[in-house]
Parts: sequence; C-alpha cells; structure tokens
Amino acid sequence: MFGKKVVLLERHSVVGGLNSFYSKKGIKFDVGLHALTNYPSPQSGKSSPLLKLCRQLRIPLDSLDLLPQSHSRITFGTESLRFDNNFEYFVSQVEEKFPKERDRFQSLLSKMDEFPAYSIDAEELSTRDILKESIMDPLLSEMLLCPTCYYGSARKNDIDFPTFVMLFDAIFKQGLARPEQGIRAILKPIVSKLRELGVKRMMKSPVQSIRANGSRISEIKLENDECISADFVISTCGAVETEALLEPSGASSASTEQGCFSIMESIFVFEGSPRDFGWDETVVFFNDSKTFSFGEPEGPIDLRSGVLCMPENYGAPDPGSRESKVRITHPARFSHWTGLEQNSYESEKALWEEKILQQGLAYLPEGKNQMDAFKSKIILRDTFTPRTIKKYTDHTNGALYGSPQKSRDGSTAFENLFLAGTDQGYVGIVGSMLGGIAIANNRILRPD
Ligand SMILES: Cc1cc2nc3c(=O)[nH]c(=O)nc-3n(C[C@H](O)[C@H](O)[C@H](O)COP(=O)(O)OP(=O)(O)OC[C@H]3O[C@@H](n4cnc5c(N)ncnc54)[C@H](O)[C@@H]3O)c2cc1C
Repeated sequence: MFGKKVVLLERHSVVGGLNSFYSKKGIKFDVGLHALTNYPSPQSGKSSPLLKLCRQLRIPLDSLDLLPQSHSRITFGTESLRFDNNFEYFVSQVEEKFPKERDRFQSLLSKMDEFPAYSIDAEELSTRDILKESIMDPLLSEMLLCPTCYYGSARKNDIDFPTFVMLFDAIFKQGLARPEQGIRAILKPIVSKLRELGVKRMMKSPVQSIRANGSRISEIKLENDECISADFVISTCGAVETEALLEPSGASSASTEQGCFSIMESIFVFEGSPRDFGWDETVVFFNDSKTFSFGEPEGPIDLRSGVLCMPENYGAPDPGSRESKVRITHPARFSHWTGLEQNSYESEKALWEEKILQQGLAYLPEGKNQMDAFKSKIILRDTFTPRTIKKYTDHTNGALYGSPQKSRDGSTAFENLFLAGTDQGYVGIVGSMLGGIAIANNRILRPD
C-alpha cells in the first residue's frame, strides 16, 4: 500500500498458516478457528484491535459477517463461570461464585488496566505470581488462567503477564465471534488485496536458507535454488525456525528457547445442530479438578483439561442446520506422535479420538446420557496431532505458540531481518496480524 515491492514466500500450497482451511469428503474445515477474539464491543469502540486491523488492511468489518458467540463457560470440576460478549456478565459471575474475591478481583482489573501490556517494553512478569498476590482463592486464579493459557501461552504452567492481559481483554472484555463463512472470509479479501497491489505471492516455495553478511541479510535461498534479495525481510515462521535457516549457521549468536506446547484436536461432524441435544454454548474450557496444569504432557495426550468448541453456536440458532461440528482440543506430546510408525499412528489416533469424545461430551449438559445418540449422528471424524502441525507449518516441536522468549519489537541480530506474529509475542489471528502490521509500519515504513 505504500510503494514497496513485496514478495510473499509460503511453503504450503494454501495461505493462512495455523489458521488455514481444507476440505474432506466435500466438507469444509477451518484448521484453527474456534473464535475470532476481540469482537468490537460498544465499550471497546474505535480502539477495538479488530476494527484497527480492518482499518489498516482496508477491509470493511461488515464484509466478515461476524456472528457473536451465544455464551461460553469455564468449568473446573463442579464449579463454572459463564461469559458472553458483555463483560459485565462475566464480572457478575465472578462476584456471584467468588463473593469474597469481589474487591480483590476489581483491584486485579485495575492493575491490568494500568499495566502497559501492549507496549514493546512490557515486562514479562509471571501471571501466576501476580495472581498469587492479587487473589486469595486459588480456584479463581486457576479458572482465569485456563482460557488465556489455551489461547496463547508458550510457557509451562504459566503465561507472561502482558499476554495474559491482552488475551483477557480479547476474550472477556471484547469477546468472541466467528465469520459466517469461517476463516476463508478473512483470508479471501487479504489475498485479493495482495493481488490488487501487485504483491508477488509464491506458494509451495519453502525458504531453505537466509544468508547473512555481517550485520545484514543479503539473500534468501528457496528450496528450488532460486535466490531472492531484499532490503528487508520479515519472518513469521518463528524465532527458532528463523535461526535454523540462517547461513552460515551460527551467523547469529542468539539461541532462542524452543517452545514445546502442542495439541491434538478432534473434530466430529454430525447431522443436525448442537441445539438438538440441548447444547447451546459456544466454547467450553474444562478442567477435571481445582488445579490447572498446562504444558507438554508426559503421555500422548493430557485429558485432564481441554477446550470444546461448537462453531454452529455462533449467531442465532439456525433451525435448518443440517450439519454441525464439535471440536475438542487437548495438550499433546510432540515426541510421542512423531515417533510412531504410520500404522500405529493411525490406530493410536483413532483410540484417543474416542477417548477425547467420551471425555469432552461429559462436560456438556446430559452429554454422557446422550453419547450413543450423538455418536449415531456422526458423519465424519477428523483428528490432527502435533505431527500434523509440524508437517503443515514446520513449527519446531509442533509448538502452537512458538518460543517462550518473545521479541516484541521484532528485532533480531540483523538490522534488516524482523520477526512478526507469534514469536513477536502477539498471538491468535488478530494479534499475529496486528503484530505484522506494526513491524511493517514501525521498522520498515517509519523506522525510528
Ligand atoms: C487448532 C488451532 C486452533 C486455533 N484457534 C484459534 C482461534 O480460535 N482464534 C485465534 O485467534 N487463533 C487461533 N489459533 C492460533 C492462530 O492460528 C495462531 O496464533 C496464528 O496463526 C499465528 O500466526 P503466525 O503468522 O505467527 O504463524 P503461522 O500461522 O504459524 O504462520 C507461519 C507461516 O510460515 C510458513 N512457513 C514456515 N516455514 C517456512 C519456510 N521455511 N518457508 C516459507 N514459509 C514457511 C508456514 O507454512 C505458515 O504459513 C489456533 C491455532 C490452532 C493450530
């Protein structure tokens, strides 16, 4: 948009990265999309990050046809907190379920408001430490950690405080929505814009190496041996992954810590609507006890906690709905799933898929009693593992949220190479795109 000549290099055949799309047996799937966070609420007004994103990309918000969530829930054992896109409702739930925490919760909210979470200098404090100082009832702290960790933590059993604040705003203060046509509604207009603006988009073009010469990147080499030179390079493939591409190896003394949080997700496509079973919620974050443990599991999957999403429960009920999905996500161990031979991989996947279904439905109203009825309506199952994430995005360890070490200003050891997206510390669809825009604006178009 600002006169630079741009080439986009992508190793996969479709755009979108971890938020891409595919079809199976004629059914359309989104890879990631559970929720588009940062739904522009009346309170967030023009400062809503999603509105800002649409303004910057010159994409009308209306063109996304956003459907707001019905309502969602965090369930720990027998205790639940409900939320929707009205933040006051969530506050009232906390006050009702944890009356003794009322004032302390309000103080925490003030602390979060005052914290410069969006600044590139934000201190990477431990959220667990801050919650310990702020909230007396550990159950409330654990319940607040669960959704934010699932939607963006690269740290074991914790989340850095700036990301916690950003995700708390994105999920609870602003809210969740979904474009009626799924992730394609976001990717299509971006691809059209790239075409209009003359951006050269090179798909199936994996970068093989990034060549350094002194303090600058001189050239990028593709796997087909083609070389490209540029004044600036923005890498969104991750900090660890970018370092691994550097040539000569060791050109940078930086050695970013590897992330290891990965997931398994099972998607059950079934006839009818979730409401046929009395399930009207959008997202359910669940944990089987009062203590939340987050990170790479010891075994193949950690069934103790997870996230269940019913994408058809965005927007008003559709009485004509003929086909719907239930998506269930759990932490999974990369080394387990990549160490299996193909036959065992497929059989283990099927085994865990069934356990995931049994466990997940138990968190829905009358879920256990309706198990057989639900199963009789399933028309297709699809499950992906950390191995799938590695295959399609090349993320080290199939890590969903990159490294625990972030570079908020995108800087690297090289003056013309910048990181954007997840390892810049801005996660999710809205976060990673806004992060990329900030790099283009602040480091390339208007450098200090
Ligand atoms: C199952 C799942 C559910 C999710 N749900 C949500 C959700 O509901 N809401 C939400 O906001 N976020 C969600 N996310 C997270 C969101 O997808 C990520 O935060 C976001 O995609 C990160 O964007 P990114 O640009 O940093 O990285 P990525 O999306 O990983 O993009 C990196 C790109 O780099 C490409 N690449 C890698 N190596 C090379 C190379 N050598 N050469 C060329 N190209 C290369 C990859 O192919 C990929 O396209 C979900 C993710 C998953 C997996």
